[in-house]
This record gives sequence, structure tokens and C-alpha cells, in this order.
Amino acid sequence: MSAEQASHESHASTRLIDAYARGDTEIAADTLWALEAHLEACAPCRGRLAASVATGAPGVAALVDTVRASLEPRLDAAVPMPSRRYRPRWVSAWVTPVMAPWLAMIVAVVAVALLLDAVGSTAFGAASPELLIAPVLPLCAVAASWSRGLDPAHELTASTARAGLPLLLRRTTSVLAVVLPVLLVQGWLTGAMTVAQWLLPSLAFTATALALGSFVGVTRAAAGLVVAWGVVLAAPAWDAGRVPVLLRPDQLPVWGALLVLGIGAVIARRRAYSSL
Ligand SMILES: [Zn+2]
Repeated sequence: MSAEQASHESHASTRLIDAYARGDTEIAADTLWALEAHLEACAPCRGRLAASVATGAPGVAALVDTVRASLEPRLDAAVPMPSRRYRPRWVSAWVTPVMAPWLAMIVAVVAVALLLDAVGSTAFGAASPELLIAPVLPLCAVAASWSRGLDPAHELTASTARAGLPLLLRRTTSVLAVVLPVLLVQGWLTGAMTVAQWLLPSLAFTATALALGSFVGVTRAAAGLVVAWGVVLAAPAWDAGRVPVLLRPDQLPVWGALLVLGIGAVIARRRAYSSL
């Protein structure tokens, strides 16, 4: 039974459902994941699982009945908590609640760069501060959105059945949806950098961080790339007051290749993310 066979197109096999009901530890992680994703969306298969639990795992069924019997009277007596939901459900599905301060900080970084540019700082020469930070700024935001230390609910999130690559991609998308327009507006306001100069590099960096993240963790990979960018390219360029060699228009194929490589590596390593 492969992951594909448990997808929405076909129902899960009885053998797999029985094994799942028994708590079989032999089921491959990706099959398990696909099955749980399918069960979430498929009522008939949930019904078959319930039947399988009743016949194949009487111990589990008895336990569930005991818990239900002792919980039900208490639930009836419980006072419902007042609703604290102040954001729509889809927001929680795409960003963590702690993302707001981080996104605000990133917008602030852009604003400071903008300010430096506006006061006509000549410290950077031809290499404007925006251009030096733009390629790695989305990277910082992605790392923040996936950081263990910055998200109090990280353990909880990472251990859910739907964690892993889909969640990582959702968060990456939501971060890029905020950061890229900010950078676009900034480039447009200052005229200091063209979209071509930073957009492809920033996407290539983000894809590379996600790819490396499957080995060392996304936060560590992003931090490494930011440091490498700063030491190898940004600092010398700032020192010399010129645009970094790699951000010249003729280097775009290099960034394109890096982006393709990064995406390819993420796809090849997609199973590694659920264990991060
Ligand atoms: Zn089904």
C-alpha cells in the first residue's frame, strides 16, 4: 500500500484500515500520513475504521467507551469557555499567532533601509542597503515562522498528523505574501533596485533554505545562508561601495538554476520534513 493508493482517488484498503485500528507500528510513515489525511476527508473510510476498531481492537473500543462514559456527565455540567477567537480560522491555518511581531519587525527593517536611502546615506555607495538585505529578508522571515524558539506551540504543531512539508510550505507562502510586496513597494519607492535584482535571488535563497532544512532544520539552514550572504557578498560589496557581483543582471541564470535545484531537493526530500 503506497501513499498514493490511500489518497482521495481511491479508498484505503481494508487491510490498511485494520492494521491502523490495531495500532500496527509496521505501517510506513508516509502511508500513515496519507491514510490520516484521507480519513479526515472521507466519512465512509472513517465508518470502516470504527467498525474495524470494534471487531479488531476490542481493547481500544472498551477504553473509548469507558472514557466517554466517565466524560459525558462532566461535559454536560461544564461551563463553555467564552470564545476568544479573534481571527478567522484560515489565518490560523496559514500563520502562527506569534508571526505578527516578526512580520512587523521585518517590515520595520525594510522601513529603516528605506529611511537610510531617503536621507541620502552615501555609506553604501552604489550598493543600496535595500539591495543588500532584500535577497535574504524573506529567508529570515521563513526561518522565524518555523523556529522552535519563537513559536511556543512548535512541539504541538510539529507532532500533528498534518505537519511536515505542507505546513512548512503554507507558512513560507504566507511569509512571502507579506514580505515580497513590502520589498516591491520599497524598490518602487526608492528606485534603488529592480525587481529582477532581488526577486529571483530571494526565492532561490528561500528554496535552498527549505532544501537544506530537511537535513539540518530550516532555522539553522536559513541562519547559515544569511551569514554566508553577509560575509561572502554583502559585507565586501558594502565595503567597496558597489553592487555585489552576484546581483548583476547577467547572473540571473545562476539564481534560476539555484531555485530549480532547491525546489527539486525539497520535492526529493519531502518525507524528511514531517520529522523536523
Ligand atoms: Zn475513503
